[in-house]
Amino acid sequence: MSMDHEVEKHYAQLLGLGSPWEVKAVDLKVKEKRVEIELGWQWGAWAQCPECGCECSVYDCAAERTWRHLDTMQFETVLRARTPRANCPEHGIKTMRVPWAEPGGRFTLLFERFAIAVLLASGSISQACGLLGIGWEAAQEIMRRAVSRGLEARELEELRYMGMDEKSFQRGQSYVTVLTDLEEGRVLEVVEERTQAAANEVWDTLTAEQKGAVEAVAVDMWEPFLRSIEEAVPQAAIVHDRYHVSAYLNKAVDQVRRQEHKELLAQGDGTLTGTRQLWLYNPENLTAEQSDEFDRLKDLNLKVGRAWAAKEMFSQFWDSVTEGGARRFFTRWFGWVSRSQLKPIVEVAQMLKRHLDHLVTYASHPISNGVTEGLNSKIQSLKSAARGFRNFANYRIRILFFCGKLALYPQ
Ligand SMILES: [Zn+2]
Repeated sequence: MSMDHEVEKHYAQLLGLGSPWEVKAVDLKVKEKRVEIELGWQWGAWAQCPECGCECSVYDCAAERTWRHLDTMQFETVLRARTPRANCPEHGIKTMRVPWAEPGGRFTLLFERFAIAVLLASGSISQACGLLGIGWEAAQEIMRRAVSRGLEARELEELRYMGMDEKSFQRGQSYVTVLTDLEEGRVLEVVEERTQAAANEVWDTLTAEQKGAVEAVAVDMWEPFLRSIEEAVPQAAIVHDRYHVSAYLNKAVDQVRRQEHKELLAQGDGTLTGTRQLWLYNPENLTAEQSDEFDRLKDLNLKVGRAWAAKEMFSQFWDSVTEGGARRFFTRWFGWVSRSQLKPIVEVAQMLKRHLDHLVTYASHPISNGVTEGLNSKIQSLKSAARGFRNFANYRIRILFFCGKLALYPQ
């Protein structure tokens, strides 16, 4: 059935339509719980060329298209129109832009805005799809368009501190390279693989001026990344990420514990049984009971106790306020660790020594990928939440949609 003229006026207002666009008819399909709004171009009005905006004659009308609009009282609402094709003397025959949707979009701008808000608020694609009554592919399409709008509008002039990191993808079978703006806490780009070529590719998404302004990059000791940083942003200080360094030290402490535990067990001594977490946790996070147990263990002059002390001592390295001070601290620490003869710890110390030039830079540029680690859990939840990750392009869109801090909404 067709509704009265007031309803047509109402929809015209709602859509922000003005002459020569008009609402021709509103069809209410009660059985299908659907409202169809037919839009038309007033006969005789000039068309506008989508390329140059000049007024030209209407050549004909394109085939009818539909756009999903915001529901009306739980009635699915759809716009229908045949868009005029302008006959531009310069650009030829071109389909006009419509004011309610972006070129090629299957949804109205209002619907896209609302869908983006629901996606961001729910943080879950499947939940948003349920709320919006759209399919997974439609949601992906809305996110893709939002991200490409955002990337176009993104102003990156202020990039000073960057983070380069890897993330596992497809259940850890492969990796992606992630470039982060540490000051804004946002992901700038994601590229497949963690090779030097991949790292070069993320740098290539920045302009020459942007690259020239980068002051420092936080990164693990992964050689391909280091080489790409030296090539792409040679003026930038490389700052090895302190979280990766503590992970190496923790791993070494654990190796010392495992070896010593094995030796003790061979002599029937179960001192280290069930103590793994005590040596790895931050002492502040231990319960009172664990804390007592840990104090007792530390007094036993165990190898793992000395390894743990070496790790703890190293945390002071990050408090150095000058690069010279950091070097002096490292020399003392390295000497002490070398005398300890704890092989796993000595090996990490030697690795740190090789990379010392890129560790002392922390005193001048106290940056780390801690920000990235925060984004990491967000990325992780995206990864585990939904299907479609066999496709890298979808994965990238999701990361940029949820972690890119982009201007996602259509204008
Ligand atoms: Zn034109």
